[in-house]
Amino acid sequence: MKDIKSMTLNELTEDLKTLGEASFRGAQVYSWLHRGVTDFGQMSNLSKPLRRKLAERYEITAPKVARKQVSRLDGTIKYLWELGDGNCIESVLMSYRHGNTVCISTQVGCRMGCKFCASTVAGRVRDLVPSEMLDQVLFTQLDSGREISNIVLMGIGEPTDNLDNVLRFLDLVNSPEGLNIGMRHISLSTCGVVPGIDRLAELGLQLTLSVSLHAPDSETRSRIMPVNNAYDVEELFDACHRYFRRTGRRISFEYAMIDGVNDSDAQADLLARRIKGMPGHVNLIPLNDVVESAFKPSRRIAAFQNRLESHGVTATVRRSLGGDIDASCGQLRRKAQEEANRERGEQA
Ligand code: SAH
Repeated sequence: MKDIKSMTLNELTEDLKTLGEASFRGAQVYSWLHRGVTDFGQMSNLSKPLRRKLAERYEITAPKVARKQVSRLDGTIKYLWELGDGNCIESVLMSYRHGNTVCISTQVGCRMGCKFCASTVAGRVRDLVPSEMLDQVLFTQLDSGREISNIVLMGIGEPTDNLDNVLRFLDLVNSPEGLNIGMRHISLSTCGVVPGIDRLAELGLQLTLSVSLHAPDSETRSRIMPVNNAYDVEELFDACHRYFRRTGRRISFEYAMIDGVNDSDAQADLLARRIKGMPGHVNLIPLNDVVESAFKPSRRIAAFQNRLESHGVTATVRRSLGGDIDASCGQLRRKAQEEANRERGEQA
């Protein structure tokens, strides 16, 4: 059966035409799907025979809420979704004064191997298809009753490692007949896969590119991020400068502050030198303690920030939300897996 929600409006319209349907049918079905309807039987402006025909041909994906945690501190909601094949992924809904942002996953697991990250501990299981990314937005909105205005691709997975599906998802979520979320309200985060950055630059999308940098020198970066062995810091910054020249868009550099690893003044100086020539923005992130990792949060965040700003580089410290609900990426999925393993162990 065909995954109907991964189809663009054009594709759907063409497909329905081959079934002998008028061209406006595509838009009707598309609109139901993008409002989160999961059963052709509910598409009340279609004839019953057509509804049956569609149900025979297409499948409508719909994740189940496997777990939901609501922060008592700030209302952040973390969802653990169970997909059609039983795999689980996470999304996080954060509410700010300027609107509601959902952080979505792009893969089941991740194969990038960053040493401080919970998402990658057990590797990558599979890519998500476009409908599964769209569903995270749709069903977060439906379940929470909060209208989503912004999307960040910063959950589990590396977006550039599943770029075709991600681009199709962007197309879907951006479409006026669907959720109509503008590219300027979408951020895509990468651990630094240079061909992916170049491809995005070529496309000239108006989204915000975030680069998970975490260290300005290759010696340190290779130690914590294996991707640096494929594309080192210099190649990465060359790609970032190309991206800026091509799109005119400011890049956001994510920088998790790790005690004694990447928080020295010399590293702040080097980071500022590398950014020079483009309007980069550094987002300093207090490291989330991940049980599996030996790294500890830095105590030099303010000093590092001041040092960057003394070089004219803007730097902000990310406000931490959902501290009481395992809100950082991969943590809830790991926890659920471990609990399941423990249960299986106890039964055996
Ligand atoms: N793979 C993409 C998308 C994931 S975004 C990327 O790497 O950009 C998730 C962000 O959280 C990344 O910037 C990642 O480096 C960061 N991160 C992962 N583990 C973290 C931790 N323990 N503390 C703080 N930030 C972390």
